[in-house]
Amino acid sequence: MESTYRMLYELISGFKKWEEKKDSIPESVYIGHRLFIKECSRNNIKPPTDLKELIKILELPSSEWGFNNLEKFFPPDASLLDSEIGVTIEAEDFLEEIHSPEEYEQSIMKKILIQCRNHKLDDTYCFIRKFLSQSKNAVIPYHELYECKGRINDQELVHVFSSCYEIIENLYQYRVCPYCGWTLEWKHGHWRCNKENVCHALADFQEVKEFPKTNNKMYRMRPGIQKYILLPGMSEHRIADRLRKMGCTIIFYPEIDKYDLKVICGSKEFYIDVKDYYNPRQLAMYINGKDISEEEKDLLYIVPDYRTKIFPKYQERVSSFLSDDRKRIVKILSETEAVRLIGGALNEENTI
Ligand SMILES: [Zn+2]
Repeated sequence: MESTYRMLYELISGFKKWEEKKDSIPESVYIGHRLFIKECSRNNIKPPTDLKELIKILELPSSEWGFNNLEKFFPPDASLLDSEIGVTIEAEDFLEEIHSPEEYEQSIMKKILIQCRNHKLDDTYCFIRKFLSQSKNAVIPYHELYECKGRINDQELVHVFSSCYEIIENLYQYRVCPYCGWTLEWKHGHWRCNKENVCHALADFQEVKEFPKTNNKMYRMRPGIQKYILLPGMSEHRIADRLRKMGCTIIFYPEIDKYDLKVICGSKEFYIDVKDYYNPRQLAMYINGKDISEEEKDLLYIVPDYRTKIFPKYQERVSSFLSDDRKRIVKILSETEAVRLIGGALNEENTI
């Protein structure tokens, strides 16, 4: 494990834990600080003497910290902290993508994936992912959560699945997100859906509704599940629906998530991975770090339409950061472009 990578991991996971539970400073923040000081001495720069000073530096784009070698792991234009939102989206994306050696904390979905792979639970994996990809399940009463757990036959998995949800106190201080069904929070004079608030660009937030009155205990997906499973999952299902209407057959998460979708389209097959990084450079870093196999040539990386709507020329930006050998092979498309490409292939076949 390279020390720079380790430093980023400790700092981001530490500040993230601190953000979630403000009563004490997590150990990882101190470890991260010590590693940061070491990195400073390696690069001959003056280290931050206290946490306050460290935080100030981490609010700058990482290219301004003065470290060589950082660009390999973290986008130079991104900071790690933001005075308004706390840990930045890029930093959260870094944490989500950790190639996890055992001692590192894994995301909930990775734990589910590993458990299902180890016990060959294809159907259960598919069931859980589909459940977490539907807006109607973003906020649910206890009995629905209980019923869902009853359909999972592996105790360890039931336990991990439970941690995808958290109880909501004071449900009526929130509103229903008109896009994803999750809880909108009133912040700085606006209703916001989770930290990044992408839903705002996708639905009308003018008249948002309260949650229906209920005496049931209510649960919502944890913020990380809303962001990393629900939103891209909604995008996967939208693509699948459009392709099905064109006559394609769709297999979700084939071979326990080798890809997100396998599309069978006449005699042709396509593999689709929906990738939802906030920063296009981070998607390029992910692809550059992967082994490119033969199969990869039939793989389409799809960026949700909302991402390309918010960030113009997103796909071109990703390509510009790809290494030369990948540039020739890798295809990065928006949802709409992918549907058009597959539809074109289908038409071509039908006219022959
Ligand atoms: Zn939402």
